[in-house]
This record gives sequence, structure tokens and C-alpha cells, in this order.
Amino acid sequence: MAIYLDNSATTPVRREVIDEMLPFLESDFGNPSSIHSHGMKAAAGVKLSRERVARLLGCSASEVYFSPCGTYSNNVAILGRARFVEANDGGRHLITTNIEHPSVIGPCQNLESRGWRVTYLPVDKDGIIDVEQLKSAISDDTSIISVMWANNEIGSLQPIEEIAKVAQERGIFFHTDAVQVPGKLPIDVSRHAISAMSLSGHKFYAPKGIGILYLKQGENVMPTAFGGGQEMGILPGTESVPNIVAIGKAAELAAAEVSQTSEKLRALQNILLEKLLPIEGLRVTGPSSVEKRLPGHVSVAISGAEGESLVMKCDLKGISVSSGSACHKGIIEPSSVLRALRLPDSEARGSLRISAGRFNSIEECEKAGDLIAQIAAKSARLSGQQV
Ligand code: PLP
Repeated sequence: MAIYLDNSATTPVRREVIDEMLPFLESDFGNPSSIHSHGMKAAAGVKLSRERVARLLGCSASEVYFSPCGTYSNNVAILGRARFVEANDGGRHLITTNIEHPSVIGPCQNLESRGWRVTYLPVDKDGIIDVEQLKSAISDDTSIISVMWANNEIGSLQPIEEIAKVAQERGIFFHTDAVQVPGKLPIDVSRHAISAMSLSGHKFYAPKGIGILYLKQGENVMPTAFGGGQEMGILPGTESVPNIVAIGKAAELAAAEVSQTSEKLRALQNILLEKLLPIEGLRVTGPSSVEKRLPGHVSVAISGAEGESLVMKCDLKGISVSSGSACHKGIIEPSSVLRALRLPDSEARGSLRISAGRFNSIEECEKAGDLIAQIAAKSARLSGQQV
């Protein structure tokens, strides 16, 4: 039986989530904007889901917006806020980091092409920004800060509470891409001064194609797409009711089980690390201390190896993992995140990400850890011989 250890890429949909969404595909399929009984049942499903998500985040239901995915949430938070800033003659400076997901980097580059100034903060060897550097980067025209909570490739956790405080003190809109966080770490936006947050259903056991944008009461974004006015006009389009119901159920489960899941993921992470750390020529990418990492997330670089070939070798042994180094025009290129860590290319090309989820067992992680360790040791040895 294949072992799936790529939960940072996507997760399976939970049975409880499927059961909850099925009636909305079959009998309760109405359009929530319709005023008849079919429509009202669909609208009730959407309302319940919004309340469940609000409980996961510690906010009120009116601050929760459904989006097509994490990518859209990030785009609307950044480009929608930028439109609002422009409409109000605000300063056109945005601060982000150089390890963000492409769905944050893309909107930032778009803003640069429209005359905005964007500061990409560097990260240290653990993949974490320096809050003092963030403070120094702020100027009178800074109107948006966007810093991800947890990095998908190297698992680093940013000091989100401190960053939010800095942004609040300076009256700056603070957005965080928290796509990797639900179900692994507790979230409470009422404790942090977070203006906007992006989530994605398929990273926490709901289907692909549904996301969330949290937008704090009183914070404005302007639409970037136009249509029927759903989701207060910010994310228009007929609601994907089954997916919305699904993300609501997944949010309810994530909130209820977070401490238990996070403890289990920490244990699985430790098993994987114990198996891999003794390998010569292998180093952990991102934080070496697990407290600074996303629970369940392990990322390594194997000197002289090639990421895609490592993934294929693992697949042949029945293990699904991923790499941050991909083949572009015949050359293995490390991702921008690995480059930001300033690893030598010979190491960054051999990156591997192993991400455990709530359905993985100790036995699976022990077996996979042993097999990956063998593959890594052989690859490091072979590359040593080639030199
Ligand atoms: N942000 C992060 C950190 C991610 O890991 C991902 C998905 O890989 C996204 C955003 C995009 O989410 P989606 O796949 O729902 O568009």
C-alpha cells in the first residue's frame, strides 16, 4: 500500500466532510440566491459553514468570505486592498518576504508593474524574517504588509503575532497567507491584529477549489472581479455550495482536533527526522528546531542529488513526497524559496519535502523514513563518487 507523505501539497477529503456535502450535490442543490425552498436550504448550508469557519478563526461570521481557492484569497487581499489604497490616494509601498507562495509574489509583481514599490524582506538560514528589519523597511508610504504564517516548502513559521503588532502600531493593513496552518496550529485572529488571512480547503481535508478570505471588520478591499454581488461583491460568482459546506465541516473538525492532531504530527515529524538526520550529505532546510516548524513538515537537501529524481525513486518504493527543485529546460533549478536560504546550488537542487498528515501512522513514517534514508544515502554517496 502506497504511503502518502505530501500533505502540504494536498490532503484527502475526510469521510465526515464528504457525508456533509453530499446532500448539497443531490437534494439540496439550489442556488442560495433563490428565494424558494431549494434555495433556502442551500443558503442555510452556506450560513452554517460561515459560522463554523468563524469559530475556527475566532472571528465573527460576517468577516468570513468564501473564495475559489487560496490563490484567489491571496490575490483579492493584495490587489483588492491595493485598489482601495489607490482610490484613497494612499502610499504605494508594500512589504512582503522573498519566500512567499507564487500567489502572493504574483500580485506583488503586478503592483510593481503599476508603479508600486515592493520590499521583499530576506530570511535567515531558518527561513524566518527579522522583525527589526521589517520595522526599518516601513516608511510613510507603506500601506500593505503581507507575510505568510507558515512556509509550504521549508515549514518555517514567521513571528506572526509580532508582525501583526508592528503593523497595527503603524496603522498598516496586514495580510497573512495561512494556507498551511489550519488543523496544525491554533488560530485566533481576535488575539492578533491581523487585517486579512487566506486559507485553502484542500490543505485541511476539504476538496480542492474552495478557499477562505478573512477580512477584519472595518478593513476594506475593492473588487478585482465583477458579477452578481455574492460575498459582498468582493468574490462574486454563484456559491459552490457543496464545497462551502465541506470547508465548514473541515473547519469544525480542525478546530475541535487541533491540539491532538498537532501532537500527533510532531511525533511523526520527529520519527522522520530521526531516520534522516544521520545521513551524511543531508541537511535540514528551514528551521532545525521543530518549535519553529510547521508540525508534520520535514524538508531536507541532499548534496549532489536531483530533487525530481529523488521523488521518482521514492515513488518507485511506494512513497509520495515532493521536491522544491524542478526541471526547467533540462536543468534542475532550485525554487526561489530554496534560493532565499542561500544554500549552495549543489545542495538546493537535491531538495525533498516530506509532509505528514492526520491519516499517517507511526508505522508508515518509520517505514518511509527508512526507505527515504536509504535513497538519500545512496544518492549522496553516488554524487560523492562523481566528484
Ligand atoms: N499559499 C500557500 C502557502 C500554499 O501552500 C498554497 C498551495 O500550495 C497556496 C497559497 C495556494 O492555494 P490553492 O492551491 O488553494 O490555490
